[in-house]
Amino acid sequence: MKSKTVLACSITILSLVYILSAQSFVEVKGCYGPHITAQISSNEVKVNESVTINGEICPGDPNVTIRVTFTRPDYTWIDQFVVTDSEGKFSVTQELDEAGYWNIFPIYGHICDRLYANVTDPNADPNAPIPTFELPPYKPNYTLVSAAAISLSLGTIVAVVGTKNKTRKISSLRLFVQIGFVFLIFFGMFIDHQNIPVPAEQIAPHEVLISTEVLGVSMPDGLPVPFFGCYYPCGRTTTCALWELQTYIYPFWDAGRGWGVNYASSGIMRLGVVFGSIILLSIVLGKFFCGWICPFGLYMDLISKLRKTLRIRYRVLSDNFNKKFHQLGYVILALILILSILFGMQAIANTQIIPETEKGGFIYQYFSAPFCQVCPMKPLCMSLQTSVGLLRPEWLTESTTGDFYQLGYYLTSLNIVILAIVSLAAFFYRRSWCRICPLGALIALFSRFPPFKWISALRLDKVEKKCTKCGVCKRVCPTQVTEVYEKKGGDVTSSNCLLCLRCVEMCPYEDALRLNLAGKTVMRSRNWLESNEF
Ligand code: SF4
Ligand code: SF4
Ligand code: SF4
Repeated sequence: MKSKTVLACSITILSLVYILSAQSFVEVKGCYGPHITAQISSNEVKVNESVTINGEICPGDPNVTIRVTFTRPDYTWIDQFVVTDSEGKFSVTQELDEAGYWNIFPIYGHICDRLYANVTDPNADPNAPIPTFELPPYKPNYTLVSAAAISLSLGTIVAVVGTKNKTRKISSLRLFVQIGFVFLIFFGMFIDHQNIPVPAEQIAPHEVLISTEVLGVSMPDGLPVPFFGCYYPCGRTTTCALWELQTYIYPFWDAGRGWGVNYASSGIMRLGVVFGSIILLSIVLGKFFCGWICPFGLYMDLISKLRKTLRIRYRVLSDNFNKKFHQLGYVILALILILSILFGMQAIANTQIIPETEKGGFIYQYFSAPFCQVCPMKPLCMSLQTSVGLLRPEWLTESTTGDFYQLGYYLTSLNIVILAIVSLAAFFYRRSWCRICPLGALIALFSRFPPFKWISALRLDKVEKKCTKCGVCKRVCPTQVTEVYEKKGGDVTSSNCLLCLRCVEMCPYEDALRLNLAGKTVMRSRNWLESNEF
């Protein structure tokens, strides 16, 4: 009781300070950290005309080299290097030699501003369509897209319809679905980006695929999904719910502004949409997202397959420790939210948290999404993006060779270290990260705890009289869930259960375990001991 009171008081005080401090956001002026801002002389120019970029850094250090990258419509680029004057200002002029939309990035260390120029050719056919800021005409890679669509459809037909016993094929079906979703999540990387202009709202090119509106609330970053469908890669088709949660808490309570983006909606409106979507998705499918869709889940499953191939046996945690370990996910989730709120407070915006960094800069520039700075998924996404040629490799290396606290535009040294640790752990302990994943904890909160538990649509049921307590379900479970084995019957879905259905697949007794969707059984265990399957 006492700890609950302390918790309630802390949350109230934190919320009050946050709300009060957020009021002063619009009044803050001047330099709030390592930052770069720039303006372009004109956004509309003719081909072979020049534009001038005037900008400044803050703090206004002299003699700092600024790189200004002018990226042509065909994504080749011109780099110019310029040194700041005594006030930290710089100016650079460039002739734009190709018609179309140019992206211009003034880059200061790992930080950049983004500008655009629409270059027209007066000698071009006057009847040719005039470029606009609307969604561009994408040019899909038809061969790749058709091949993927055909194989996805054929695979689904073979796996679901052509197989008499669906339960027997759960593992293969799951792998197939997981790989299919990786393609869908990163689909934008496989289409032609060359015609993507920077839209009028200054949304980054990688956002134009998913920018949307919900109930009148503008969601330029897209709708959040409860799996690691990361925000960062160029060409993503989903947005990780954790990123939106962290970022919208950052001090946009009233102000509709963000990272180089002028949002038409306020932070509180967007947070409402985020929570609404997450609650709805969690109630309908719960942790099915973890078992069947999340790309990081697939990554860990592949590591387990590698271990199996090498004939190395997995290790298990004690049941007691595993349960306590699982609670860590909620602690991490709470920490993420508290840190996001803290770093969003104006009250500490002008303090110098880390010695020798700029006042408030550390907070404002990098920690609006604190978890993303350590997230193990980010290096995988960035490597994928680099491998398809949508990110210059040097951006990755630049980001990871800075000072420990100098967090990169894309990656931090911490991201890499955490990924290495998680990968090693996953080799010995199946789905090790999923046991403490804050996103998994978020889904569990809205699907496995009252009142959401009472209305969640997807659940694992056990028929008590058909279970012989053989213990197979407990042994095969990748997150060492014990509830399926220990509970007598009825709903045995626990907060740690990924709904991977490995237990349903391996349970050797007919109808002892069932997957029910809205009360209807969609899969059930079968007696493979007496069948001719093996
Ligand atoms: S870095 Fe991780 S937490 Fe952040 S958006 Fe990407 S997947 Fe989500
Ligand atoms: S627990 Fe986290 S990492 Fe694991 S599958 Fe779910 S969202 Fe992905
Ligand atoms: S209890 Fe069953 S469905 Fe849940 S994670 Fe374990 S094996 Fe998968």
